[in-house]
Amino acid sequence: MMTTLPVGRFAPSPTGPLHSGSLIAAIGSFCLARRLSGRWLLRMEDLDTPRVVPGAADQILRTLERLGLHWDGEILWQSRRQQAYQQALESLTERGLIFPCGCSRKEILASAPHPGEEGPIYPGHCRNGLAPGRRPRALRVRVPRQVICFTDGVFGPISQGLEEAVGDFVLRRADGLFAYQLAVVVDDAESGVNQVVRGADLLTSTPRQIFLHAAFGNPIPDYIHLPLATDLAGIKLSKRHGAAISSGDSQAMVEALRFLGQQVPREMEGEAPQQLLSWAVAHFDIRKIAAAQGGQILTRTKKAVAPLTAGQNAVK
Ligand code: GLU
Ligand code: ZN
Repeated sequence: MMTTLPVGRFAPSPTGPLHSGSLIAAIGSFCLARRLSGRWLLRMEDLDTPRVVPGAADQILRTLERLGLHWDGEILWQSRRQQAYQQALESLTERGLIFPCGCSRKEILASAPHPGEEGPIYPGHCRNGLAPGRRPRALRVRVPRQVICFTDGVFGPISQGLEEAVGDFVLRRADGLFAYQLAVVVDDAESGVNQVVRGADLLTSTPRQIFLHAAFGNPIPDYIHLPLATDLAGIKLSKRHGAAISSGDSQAMVEALRFLGQQVPREMEGEAPQQLLSWAVAHFDIRKIAAAQGGQILTRTKKAVAPLTAGQNAVK
């Protein structure tokens, strides 16, 4: 149970305009923070520079403003946080948790015992030192033989054995970029985020992030994963509306709220986004999120979340 006010965040990657899937994450995180008068922060995840689309960040920000999704404080741009990530990496290095890995993607694929939920499981080749003549490529963190458990606000109790499911994972990539897993943990901690609300595609990343938070001695945030728009009877919301949400802001907002199980009254359908949002903040009920799925939270994505979804709340 949360005893302090929620500090939530929305963390879009500027790889394109805000689409229905990201709108769901934005609205869900906004309502869950604001319904308890909490803070809602914005972080632009522009770390993976090769994937960043010029102009997309601005476009996302303008859309959020237009919809009345106003954030608190300054935007945190991940591209400006190299120093913080480097420091975090050093603190783990000092404790012997980091090792250089000389394996290529191909080598890992060839020797991974079986494919994991998150791609091939690192077979541990360089764990005890680089073989002679090998050049360090990525930096990995040594994971313990430990099962990470947490209770997701929608999906219920989740557990994942880090070693079996992912293996030692990358914190600095071969191209020199810091990995998403590291950045998200460093940033959530530094911003005081205590409520992480995002799409269920990241459910399988959460144990890694909890492990890192614990390694840094950070408090562990609450995690609330939202069903993916692709899960609902195979309807791809993002496809149906095209890339951006231009087909009427109010309609997009009503659909996102209904997707999250919130019963927007019919007579409110034509209201301006700001009015819809005030209604949603006042009425938002997390227990309805799973109910909208008829108790069946399934992912049809390649990332198999299904074995982890022993949903507590899902059956309510
Ligand atoms: N940037 C990620 C995305 O757009 C979200 C990361 C997160 O919420 O932790 O999918
Ligand atoms: Zn290696």
